Amino acid sequence: MNIILFGPPGAGKGTQAAAICQRASVPHVATGDIFRRNLREGTPLGQLARGYMDRGELVPDSVVCDLVTDRLGQPDAQGGVLLDGFPRTVVQAALLSKWLDENGRKIDVVVNLRVPDDVLVKRLSGRRTCLACGATYHVDYNPPSTPGVCDVCGKADVVQRDDDREETVLARLSTYHRDTAAVLPWLQERVGVVDVDATRSIDDVGAAVLAALA
Ligand code: ADP
Ligand code: ADP
Ligand code: ZN
Repeated sequence: MNIILFGPPGAGKGTQAAAICQRASVPHVATGDIFRRNLREGTPLGQLARGYMDRGELVPDSVVCDLVTDRLGQPDAQGGVLLDGFPRTVVQAALLSKWLDENGRKIDVVVNLRVPDDVLVKRLSGRRTCLACGATYHVDYNPPSTPGVCDVCGKADVVQRDDDREETVLARLSTYHRDTAAVLPWLQERVGVVDVDATRSIDDVGAAVLAALA
């Protein structure tokens, strides 16, 4: 099953991803996580992505699409994937859909996490991320049991992402409204979109998302 988990930055995609992947038995493909891993390792891809990420802008479509189609071609992705943070432009959506078509695959379900901007700003500015494994926390809504230490992998690597500082958060939200929101009607027309009110608690949103997959 190929699932797209859609929503603005801070909607809760990363938070809900593990439960969905477990339920659907598919790997988690999060383009932001792939870029951050490459940044950390100092690869050419990481160096290319850095400036865009720091400014809250999108990495060019061709770069992201090559990355994702490569990932979709790997053995563990043959039975489907959970796409998180991709597609983010209509061009990406069209290229994804063309690649899936050519490979006898398709998008099975799109879940859209709906959250208004004022709530997103609070979520993003309080977000803490484990740089070792990508798990996310929130200083007020979902803190790790020991401050700074990841409950998932045990490493003391839980920090604020550079792009979660307030100036960049606002830039990312405007990028979302300018470039990414238009993907929703595109997907709605071709695949259908299940909307989930993601302002509720993490558990309630999780239950609604799993219901959407059933
Ligand atoms: P969030 O989880 O807060 O929505 P991500 O971790 O998905 O943020 O993305 C972080 C940054 O990585 C984005 O601001 C953008 O610069 C880059 N990025 C991630 N996915 C894409 C994509 N599909 N297209 C272009 N840029 C992307
Ligand atoms: P995304 O991957 O869509 O950018 P995250 O999953 O990283 O979003 O969540 C953004 C922030 O909001 C994190 O700090 C997370 O702990 C918090 N969060 C996620 N879902 C909820 C929720 N339902 N209620 C309150 N806070 C949430
Ligand atoms: Zn961790």
